[in-house]
Amino acid sequence: MILRMSSLFVRTLRDDPNDAEVPSHRLLVRAGYIRRIAPGIYTWLPLGLRVLRKIEGIIRDEMDAVGAQELSFPALLPKEPYEATGRWSEYGDNVFRLQDRKGGDYLLGPTHEEMFTLVVKDLYSSYKDLPLSIYQIQTKYRDEARPRAGLLRGREFVMKDSYSFDIDDAGLEVSYQKHRDAYVRIFDRLGFDYVIVKATSGAMGGSRSEEFLARAAVGEDTYVRCTQCDYAANVEAVAVRPPAVISYDETPLAHAEETPDTPTIDSLVDHLNATFPREDRPWAAGDTLKNVLVVLKHPDGTREPLAIGLPGDREVDQKRLEGQLEPIEVEAMTESELAKHPSLVKGYIGPAVLGEESASGIRYLVDPRVVEGTRWVTGANVAGSHVIDLVVGRDFTPDGTIEAADVRDGDECPHCSEGTLEAARGIEMGHIFALGRKYAEALDLKVLDESGKLVTVTMGSYGVGVSRAVAAIAEGTLDDIGLCWPRDVAPADVHIVAAGKDATIFAAATELAEALSAQGIDVVYDDRAGKVSPGVKFKDAELIGVPTIVTVGRGLADGTVEVRDRASGERLEVAVADAAAHLTGLVRG
Ligand code: ATP
Ligand code: MG
Repeated sequence: MILRMSSLFVRTLRDDPNDAEVPSHRLLVRAGYIRRIAPGIYTWLPLGLRVLRKIEGIIRDEMDAVGAQELSFPALLPKEPYEATGRWSEYGDNVFRLQDRKGGDYLLGPTHEEMFTLVVKDLYSSYKDLPLSIYQIQTKYRDEARPRAGLLRGREFVMKDSYSFDIDDAGLEVSYQKHRDAYVRIFDRLGFDYVIVKATSGAMGGSRSEEFLARAAVGEDTYVRCTQCDYAANVEAVAVRPPAVISYDETPLAHAEETPDTPTIDSLVDHLNATFPREDRPWAAGDTLKNVLVVLKHPDGTREPLAIGLPGDREVDQKRLEGQLEPIEVEAMTESELAKHPSLVKGYIGPAVLGEESASGIRYLVDPRVVEGTRWVTGANVAGSHVIDLVVGRDFTPDGTIEAADVRDGDECPHCSEGTLEAARGIEMGHIFALGRKYAEALDLKVLDESGKLVTVTMGSYGVGVSRAVAAIAEGTLDDIGLCWPRDVAPADVHIVAAGKDATIFAAATELAEALSAQGIDVVYDDRAGKVSPGVKFKDAELIGVPTIVTVGRGLADGTVEVRDRASGERLEVAVADAAAHLTGLVRG
């Protein structure tokens, strides 16, 4: 088919949209692929829609190849199934809720585990019907707190979601592996540079879960890889390996000391080394125990204070903390909330007043490194004083542990403990979960097994961000002159520029466009006559990013056209007579 620039519904823009935070967003708007309607809500223009459809096609292909069957649910859904699984409230502010004229509650589906579970319950009743994998490519709605970067985090977006149904755990493992293999093929075909990392299961519940992250500096996810072994995990899922319990027989008794003018951890450490030197080595920031107060906001609105104890050389990583606690959200404790606990002396809070059994009654969870026998310098609950040599298990016992401390380059690998971790950023493109029986139990999905007994079905859930992929592929391939699509997802195969005023140029360009189209090759043909200069046409071709740009212009006098590779910039003169065959060869690979 031929998309003629003279009539194609597109206007390329010279200026960047002012809300664009990342290059892909800027270029997708400038090149006329998408238009913003409201925060996180976009219109697909013809070029954008073509890329979206290509990506959908690849995903569909690979899902069908592993025997998954496509169906399609509505986005507008009744409340009841989501109430049955608790997600109507757990999803909190992220769900778009609405009412019909009779006052009935509805939502716009943020994800469809409930609906898939119910349709299987509706139609299937026997182990003979399983295993089953079904999927849809459909529009999802989430009222994201921070819609950003155009299609990367939308409030309306396209997702491929599939679900597997098995009679037992062994079956689920097979279904999970099949999906994982299909995802590898999908992301290979989409041309991503990606990593597969361990993930947390979050609000989904379930056991095993992995994410497919496209490596990208603009990504919102941070993952780590080991320098020695094959360990790779989203930082949210990193479980620190706790050090061995230490004997504290020889450790001096705890003693509170005045530590004036030590507002920061560094100043405290300097003061300790000058005034209370340690016998074996100098004090370091990691010897201090910092206690951070936060408030857990439960989905039902209740606010619960929580104290987190961690080594003073680390910070609380909000995403890691929330990853453990989902669907609970975490906020800083306000001054007025702090004031309700007179035992807490700001800046000098120590374990003596923390814990469910303590004066404050505030639950106290510590970093896994804070194990029995470790000795700490921490707040003495008196302004201007710290307690030194406070030992876990001897002087205080926390209520438990939590993974809240930031993970850093150089941290010990929790898997092999020989290598160290290296951190990088990525965009979450896909997520696969071995869900288990949570949804099947909540919605009572049971089938008869071989012996005629009713058993609960076990499920997997597998998502791909389809609209997000458009932006992520753009992000990974663009250069300083524009978009630069991999051939398999490009909106067209060849972009022909008729460069010049001569009728012979237009005649030759038209003939080439038609010859290619007749071969089933998709062509953008810049046939604009009149005032549109070759310079403008080239700029547009570079911006739009079709992988092969053909110039029919000056060379025509010598019987040639110029074929240029958009990505490498390589140019080749090809005889007009051979052009169609040459290009067909290029496109077909
Ligand atoms: P994120 O951590 O990025 O919010 P998620 O964990 O909420 O993602 P899932 O619920 O697992 O995502 O959804 C499956 C896939 O849908 C994700 O892997 C991602 O590619 C895509 N996705 C999720 N939220 C959005 C969004 N707001 N905009 C575009 N794509 C999204
Ligand atoms: Mg999300």
